[in-house]
Amino acid sequence: MRVFDGHNDSLSRMWKSGPDAVGGFVGGDGEGHLDLPRARAGGLAGGGLAGFTCSPGEDAYDSGAYFALVDQRRALKEALGQIALLQRLVRRSEGAVRVARSVTELDGAGLAVVLHVEGAEPIGPELDELEVLHAAGMRSLGLVWSRPNQFATGVPFAFPGSPDQGPGLTDAGRTLVRACGELRVLVDLSHLNARGFWDVAALSDAPLVASHCGAHALCPSPRNLTDDQLRAIGESGGLVGINFHVGFLRHDGADDADTPVALIARHAAHVADVAGVGAVALGSDFDGATMPAALGDVTGLPQVLETLRATGFSDADVERIAWGNWMRVFAHSCT
Ligand code: ZN
Repeated sequence: MRVFDGHNDSLSRMWKSGPDAVGGFVGGDGEGHLDLPRARAGGLAGGGLAGFTCSPGEDAYDSGAYFALVDQRRALKEALGQIALLQRLVRRSEGAVRVARSVTELDGAGLAVVLHVEGAEPIGPELDELEVLHAAGMRSLGLVWSRPNQFATGVPFAFPGSPDQGPGLTDAGRTLVRACGELRVLVDLSHLNARGFWDVAALSDAPLVASHCGAHALCPSPRNLTDDQLRAIGESGGLVGINFHVGFLRHDGADDADTPVALIARHAAHVADVAGVGAVALGSDFDGATMPAALGDVTGLPQVLETLRATGFSDADVERIAWGNWMRVFAHSCT
């Protein structure tokens, strides 16, 4: 069964590691959680690849850099570097990797990439960069990573915690959401705080989507979604890509790889109970997070599907979770 994975950080991993990474991804260098041969082996047929800019670094909490606004020009330069890397990857793979600009382009052999930008820091107040990123193939934009920016406020990682921390969208953030609606760029709600979430829900008539999150009722991380948020997502026709990061799965929030793969299915079942099975999808966070040890990397995707079946999802439900629900959402936003 083919899988669409809503979120991974492979682009920024490769960008950080240098120019050899493109050939390594295509040839299968075994770095990180994902490369092309392993994607094939795991049944990964499509994925949201994220451009992520201005990583705050290890000591950012101590230095306060974590909460400082990042420089837009620096963020744009880093985003362009990662998108350029994706273009080289497409060329080097001789068609085995392609950038899908519409839902019909998601269907087919090889690995279809939905270009995503995680955190709108590269975009300036005139939104010129939004137009150019869209022209370059971007079909999904996360307003924030886990920090504030000129548009909105992301939740910090401190565990446990509520997503209801900090203010809602700025005026520029409202303008950006409306502009994404016009371009039919998906607005990704992952990392966004609760007030921002409800502001987007009020502004947008598009399906509400969180590409890589879990259920707050099972793991009280601020990165996870409350039942009220899940219900709103379900009612909008949107979805949640269940994040495989152990710290967003476990009830104790520990960054401990000794975590059962079945917890992914438990989050999926909770989202299905609250929001309907149409709201359940996958959003691994490969190359950006700690995976359950038994899952390992992208070659562990069939295990995830197996635990979904073992939890009681039918084969038809598993197909929707693995692929169909993402396609329904992209039919709206990826045109
Ligand atoms: Zn993320």
